[in-house]
Amino acid sequence: MADRDLSGFVRVRGAREHNLKNVDVDVPRDALVVFSGVSGSGKSSLAFATIYAEAQRRYFESVAPYARRLIDQVGVPAVDAIDGLPPAVALQQSRGTPSARSSVGSATSLSSLLRMLYSRAGHYPAHQPMLYAEDFSPNTPQGACPTCHGLGRMYDATEASMVPDDSLTIRERAVAAWPPAWHGQNLRDILVTLGHDVDTPWRQLPKKLRHWILFTEEQPTVPVYAGFTPAETRDALRHRTEPSYQGTFMGARKYVLHTFATTQSALMKRRVSRYMIASDCPTCHGKRLKREALSVTFAGLDIGEMSGMTLRDLADVLRPVAQGQAQAGRAGGVISRAASRQQTARRVAAGLSAHAAAPDVRRTPVLSEEKRTAAQRIAHDVLDRLTTLNELGLGYLSLDRATPTLSAGELQRLRLATQIRSNLFGVIYVLDEPSAGLHPADGEALLQALKGLRAAGNSLFVVEHDLTLMREADWLVDVGPDAGERGGEVLYSGPPAGLQAVPQSRTAAYLFPGAGVTPARRRETRGWLRLEGVTRNNLRGIDVEIPLGCFVAVTGISGSGKSSLVSQAMVDLVSQALGHEPPVADADEDDADGPAREATRGRITAGLEHIRRLVQVDQKPIGRTPRSNLATYTGLFDHMRKLFAATTAARRRRFDAGRFSFNVAKGRCETCEGEGFVSVELLFMPSVYAPCPTCHGARYNEATLKVTLRGKTIADVLQLTVDDALAFFADDASLARPLTLLQQIGLGYLRLGQPATELSGGEAQRIKLATELQRAQRGTTLYVLDEPTTGLHPADVDKLLTQLGGLVQAGNTVVVVEHEMRVVAASDWVIDIGPGAGAEGGTVVACGTPEHVASLAGVTTSRTASFLQRQLN
Ligand code: ADP
Ligand code: ADP
Ligand code: ZN
Ligand code: ZN
Repeated sequence: MADRDLSGFVRVRGAREHNLKNVDVDVPRDALVVFSGVSGSGKSSLAFATIYAEAQRRYFESVAPYARRLIDQVGVPAVDAIDGLPPAVALQQSRGTPSARSSVGSATSLSSLLRMLYSRAGHYPAHQPMLYAEDFSPNTPQGACPTCHGLGRMYDATEASMVPDDSLTIRERAVAAWPPAWHGQNLRDILVTLGHDVDTPWRQLPKKLRHWILFTEEQPTVPVYAGFTPAETRDALRHRTEPSYQGTFMGARKYVLHTFATTQSALMKRRVSRYMIASDCPTCHGKRLKREALSVTFAGLDIGEMSGMTLRDLADVLRPVAQGQAQAGRAGGVISRAASRQQTARRVAAGLSAHAAAPDVRRTPVLSEEKRTAAQRIAHDVLDRLTTLNELGLGYLSLDRATPTLSAGELQRLRLATQIRSNLFGVIYVLDEPSAGLHPADGEALLQALKGLRAAGNSLFVVEHDLTLMREADWLVDVGPDAGERGGEVLYSGPPAGLQAVPQSRTAAYLFPGAGVTPARRRETRGWLRLEGVTRNNLRGIDVEIPLGCFVAVTGISGSGKSSLVSQAMVDLVSQALGHEPPVADADEDDADGPAREATRGRITAGLEHIRRLVQVDQKPIGRTPRSNLATYTGLFDHMRKLFAATTAARRRRFDAGRFSFNVAKGRCETCEGEGFVSVELLFMPSVYAPCPTCHGARYNEATLKVTLRGKTIADVLQLTVDDALAFFADDASLARPLTLLQQIGLGYLRLGQPATELSGGEAQRIKLATELQRAQRGTTLYVLDEPTTGLHPADVDKLLTQLGGLVQAGNTVVVVEHEMRVVAASDWVIDIGPGAGAEGGTVVACGTPEHVASLAGVTTSRTASFLQRQLN
């Protein structure tokens, strides 16, 4: 630790980015450095926006002279000088969403290695020529299954999927898949003109008619008499009355598939996807590859099967190959018999010839030797990478797992593992909370990985809240003392132990003993919510009981099944039972790729009478464009715009509230269409946002900015922090209350107009929670939060706990998925999932009060018990 020989330093002088107050700091190279401080104090501004950005700028300059233009437009970091700065690599938790086609295999480039393995060393059936590596990729035209174009699934709409309730009439919207509102009514009116019965229950209509309405490709155009009864329509047709308009019919299936394929709106896509069913492609059976590619095997498996195995199992298959044991043409000897039986069953089911695994007749001894060497070399390389992934606790993933279904922490560790393999040295890795999503039992592996990078001659600059990682660091840079304006100073820079002498540090209070938890008074349960036979991902028919009116922590190592239970299964079952659609989750683009494949199975057998509402407060962005922000999301902005419209200046100009919206053409700057930014595209580089040259980020046109409210324009108001806004609008009760709640939850430093795209997951979550706290509390709500402490300093965690405690006090139930033992210790009830990850997890290994679970340390397989015991002592 501190006795490490620290030689070189990165010397930062006069850093002023965001809230940094002209900061000077020396940070050692070749060391593990943690940047600490409360959320919004300026850690990222220093580590990412200053040090990393400057390294990046120098890199751009050295590789591409034309990048000058880019740098001019984006601006250089506000800092006087940085000396001793090596190149930097950032591993930031992505705030955007990764592409749906990206998978664990592509993100780690393991898929391309496997493709090479199959191409060079695979087992080809007789008479089949060798394939290129690209032939094994479902994302290339050469490799993709021609039936499903490499998607692995086929989407279709059936009578059952489009007409969920066949006792309804067409007028009662039996064809649920049809568009809502006007468009749906239009289609119904057309059927009336065509002389069809819209008032008979669907199931009593002739089959031929039902079939035509749903599946026809014809698109007849006919006169429509809007608002007429069927009798009046018949009459109007007979008398050739002038119709309201000419309407064009479209069959329901055609409408659904066409909308799904072409709509730009995620909401529409999501809506129609509910009326579609997905099934495995009949040609490739979900493996996404053309037949020739799937007929090539290695160790008795086709590449699709290999991509579907857990990384841990894959390592077991490749280990003997890497050690030079000949690659068996058949499964025996390499993989377990059970697995081989499963393979055979699957292959038979897939209709593939069992001879696919027979010895290659063309194989000469020479070729075989060549293949063996190639196989050994590639397998060795793959195994190396798999080891790193396993060590980082990701062994339960498979290569074909889509990256959008991974948590942010899993994604970051995936990137970290890729970096560890890249053999760079002399660079600075700048990381954003690598411990996110990790159980303390997984933390050790992460620490070893970081130390490995350091041992290879690199520097690690880590923005982190995890106290264990801080204690293990060589050096600590504590930023603060508080957030925004009240932060931005370096309070301490040195070995961790020295922080104890810095009283104004919020971190010191938690890092050193003395700040023990006040044992919570355990609340009595008001009843139990009982879930039975829960099946989802790795949960296989488990029973779980959740105490109502309590604060419940669900724990377990990464991949054990916590999210599957809480955020997926429980949310599904409860929302189904309450008769609404799953709240928040699923309502955005991530999942709009297609109908969900795996549904939750299970039932609720007790306790539902105590729950009226289900609210999921997650860390997903509150919006995906710079158009949404704190003020628009919370509804504060609507009220503020009304205040502007009520001023004399606005009334004289006849400006209404819409005029003060940057989403409406009349008031906004036309150059940037109210975004305040324009995107700059550059060859070979990711596009970046630069301030709008016309309004310089104000977002409004000049006329709008003429109107002021007590000296501030609407653009000025968007620049206010929550703290400032509270002072400015103190007299307005309908603004003061929500602003106060935002302040209490630790977001006083946020600017009202800060674009949603710049907010961290933790900030987005607290904004949602504050919006929720604004509602009247009736004590019958079930709140679900998945890892709510991610991105939060212990001091922020305490604020969050206070707010959650308030919800429980009002009689509500709060269920959190949590790794932070301080929070688990403060809960009323713990449900520990495990014991392992993936197939080795998925059961309840311990449950009870924190004291009870802690007392099981060494007695059960619970990995949580011993950490909880340490926390409680
Ligand atoms: P931390 O990493 O400690 O949570 P940040 O460095 O992200 O804090 O933020 C410090 C301050 O800078 C906050 O007041 C935040 O609102 C502000 N800030 C962060 N990003 C930006 C940005 N892109 N533009 C302007 N201000 C920002
Ligand atoms: P935790 O929340 O405890 O980290 P998860 O519930 O996310 O664990 O994952 C449990 C298991 O289910 C893991 O094996 C994981 O790979 C798998 N899993 C989770 N989500 C999905 C998904 N969307 N698709 C396929 N497998 C999933
Ligand atoms: Zn296919
Ligand atoms: Zn503009």
